[in-house]
Amino acid sequence: MVAEGEGALGRTAGPPPPDLLRLHEAIAGLFATQGDWRRAYQHLRSALEIARDGSLRDPLTSSYNRRYLDERLYGPFTDRPPLGIALIDLDRFKGVNDTYGHLVGDRVLRRVADLLQEDLPPGGFCARYGGEEFVLWLPGIDAGAAIQLVESARLRVARHPWSELQPGLRVTISAGLAHETPGAGTPERQLRRADTLLYAAKRAGRNKVAYHDAQTTHLITHSE
Ligand code: GH3
Ligand code: MG
Ligand code: MG
Repeated sequence: MVAEGEGALGRTAGPPPPDLLRLHEAIAGLFATQGDWRRAYQHLRSALEIARDGSLRDPLTSSYNRRYLDERLYGPFTDRPPLGIALIDLDRFKGVNDTYGHLVGDRVLRRVADLLQEDLPPGGFCARYGGEEFVLWLPGIDAGAAIQLVESARLRVARHPWSELQPGLRVTISAGLAHETPGAGTPERQLRRADTLLYAAKRAGRNKVAYHDAQTTHLITHSE
């Protein structure tokens, strides 16, 4: 059973936001018929910006999407280290869908994305990597701060009052965090390391953050 709106979980049902893209397009058309090319151009530029932003967002969670992440991973304007990249995966999420249905699963994904986006450093972002996996991009902070931040995100998800959405519902995440200091490898390699660490967090029992210590290469896991 899925209730109307999202109640305690934020999003409420209501009219959809105005379609600004179409509005700008229509106004541009009007100015164009009057020969006011300058204003027509301005509105077309606005429409283009809205369309571009939309193409970089995930429609379900409104977080950035894989296309945006790939631009940052492989593009010319990627951040230089220090940079933390965390790969995050919901724990036993198939069970949430199987028990409560896919609409509840969708709401869980939206809420987790919101929780992950709290307290990001300047220039940081959350992107949906695919399915029930997200990437946190954490530039300009040292390894200790990155660990703290991902651990706080894990706790926020674990302590969220999920039972207000569905009685008995519990949601946790596992994370692998790779941090690079200046002079280190590419963000792509870093993401691969985060992926390996994520699997270590899963193997260690889930609801954990896995990362490598700065001095040693031992795996460290946190949990409540
Ligand atoms: P693990 O802890 O090992 O990650 O287990 P898991 O169940 O989370 O992993 P698994 O890969 O078996 O299942 C992932 C599930 O995520 C299956 C898929 O249906 C669900 N999923 C992926 N994308 C969406 C989505 O957009 N909406 C919903 N509701 N479910 C999704
Ligand atoms: Mg997964
Ligand atoms: Mg999973």
